[in-house]
Amino acid sequence: MFKKILIANRGEIALRIIRTCKELGIPTVAVYSEVDRDSLHVVFADEAVCIGPAPSNQSYLKIPNILSAALITGADAIHPGYGFLAENAEFSEICAESNIKFIGPSPDSIRKMGDKAFAKETMKKVGVPVVPGSDSVINDVDEAKKIAAEIGYPVMLKASAGGGGKGMRIVWEESEIEKAFQTAGNEAGAAFSNPALYLEKYIENPHHVEIQVLCDQHGNFFHYGERDCSIQRRHQKLIEESPSPFITEEVRQKMGEAALLGVRSVNYEGAGTVEFLVDKYQNFYFIEMNTRIQVEHPVTEMVRNLDLIKNQILVAAGLPIADKPREPRGHAIEFRINAEDPEKNFRPSPGKIEYLHFPGGFGVRIDSHVYTDYVIPPNYDSLIAKMIVWGTDRIHAIRRAKRALEEFKIEGIKTTIPFHQKVLENEKFIEGDFDTSFIDKNINN
Ligand code: ADP
Repeated sequence: MFKKILIANRGEIALRIIRTCKELGIPTVAVYSEVDRDSLHVVFADEAVCIGPAPSNQSYLKIPNILSAALITGADAIHPGYGFLAENAEFSEICAESNIKFIGPSPDSIRKMGDKAFAKETMKKVGVPVVPGSDSVINDVDEAKKIAAEIGYPVMLKASAGGGGKGMRIVWEESEIEKAFQTAGNEAGAAFSNPALYLEKYIENPHHVEIQVLCDQHGNFFHYGERDCSIQRRHQKLIEESPSPFITEEVRQKMGEAALLGVRSVNYEGAGTVEFLVDKYQNFYFIEMNTRIQVEHPVTEMVRNLDLIKNQILVAAGLPIADKPREPRGHAIEFRINAEDPEKNFRPSPGKIEYLHFPGGFGVRIDSHVYTDYVIPPNYDSLIAKMIVWGTDRIHAIRRAKRALEEFKIEGIKTTIPFHQKVLENEKFIEGDFDTSFIDKNINN
């Protein structure tokens, strides 16, 4: 087992990883930027190293600083969390060259599955249905026009290196495609330093359903069921749950098998998520794979009764997966508590938390790095807490979520809590009758 793990991340996920390391008896090293000095991940790690100023390209994304921190503290493994360097193949390669284990898949798997256009080709080859579109990145507008004409409008231009709903444009007719190509390309270039775009059929009002996988070097390729992440705003997830209230048992099985076909074909190692869009007829199409742990992983942990981070660490250490898939138990729902003002178009609301009280009680889990008097810096994403509730069934989980949000008090900043409360009062949500257009159609913000 590893002697010491450095966590190359911040916020709730850094703390989440530290917690599992402590339970495994592995010492931890936190890294932090100058504005994160007072974050709980720094407080709870055994050691902490400042890696630079606030901007992430000078700290959390700065590979030499992170490697130096690992070398001076004697860490023999790095957990990248999600975001930042988690899907950076070059970083995972450099770790290997420095004799430090990157807790995640091989650089080759990241390259094959982390690039969306490439991943679609990989899945198509093994017979998994993918959203119809360009087979690879498109080079210019004329090529985009040609492919769009073949598959039929509406289409979507998407960033090949994309994430967080950025670099994505719906194109309803040919006259709009030139401008969309420009703006999506510019956005992708600015966000991911890679302007490459690909194109696919725009599926109207789809459901987003994803499969959690875990694979080791001992021949185990497992999936742990699905998460329904259809409650999204501007293509970004806000609420995730498992099981999906939409898909049938047959589709659940087929999606699980499809996900495993894909990961087997690249000899994948570690945790990953295979994402699908599902249309109203329950046809599913692969869209992308995340070659890392995801924000919403606790939903699976609650219904499948396992620690995904623990298993990630075991696999990275060359050990077999400890928790084989079990039947799901009950229902779990995650609510992303973001420091954003839902009444002002979800504008970020950084600043000092004047007062904080977390809910508690049976079936309520809070993953968060913040506390009373903590100052949320404006430099990073606005996720400040995740509330995950478990119930014996979906209605029970919804009731529990309502009472837990009532107990949840944050003063000094605006959060998405009132938004979640509105969703929980909505009849369609309560009935489980929603797709990715739910927020636009049902919630007045
Ligand atoms: P990102 O990596 O930026 O999150 P994804 O490819 O995972 O991008 O897509 C995010 C969301 O955007 C999906 O969950 C879905 O709501 C929407 N989306 C993506 N592709 C399509 C498509 N072809 N048709 C309709 N909606 C799509």
